[in-house]
Amino acid sequence: MSKPKLKALTINRPWCKGCGICVAFCPAKVLELDHEEKAVAVRIEDCIACSLCALRCPDLAIEVEIAPEDNEIAPPAQKRILIQNRGGSRS
Ligand code: SF4
Ligand code: SF4
Repeated sequence: MSKPKLKALTINRPWCKGCGICVAFCPAKVLELDHEEKAVAVRIEDCIACSLCALRCPDLAIEVEIAPEDNEIAPPAQKRILIQNRGGSRS
């Protein structure tokens, strides 16, 4: 399975109380607190879309949207059909 890609990272500033939890948990050091003690994404290009910041924020101030995969895997039913076809009749 390929790694998730970030579609959007939204920080709801009024909801952020500046606790710094997201900054501490972000494995890619994307987030920092600004001069108003609000979380900001300073290295968004390094985001690995792990969603830890959103999961750990006690105030639900961060939302991480994951981009759909380019070659999205077919749903299970469709996948089964594809496998059956591949093993189909020999001539
Ligand atoms: S965890 Fe949430 S409330 Fe705390 S600094 Fe980050 S965004 Fe703000
Ligand atoms: S999704 Fe992961 S890598 Fe991206 S800002 Fe949040 S904690 Fe950091």
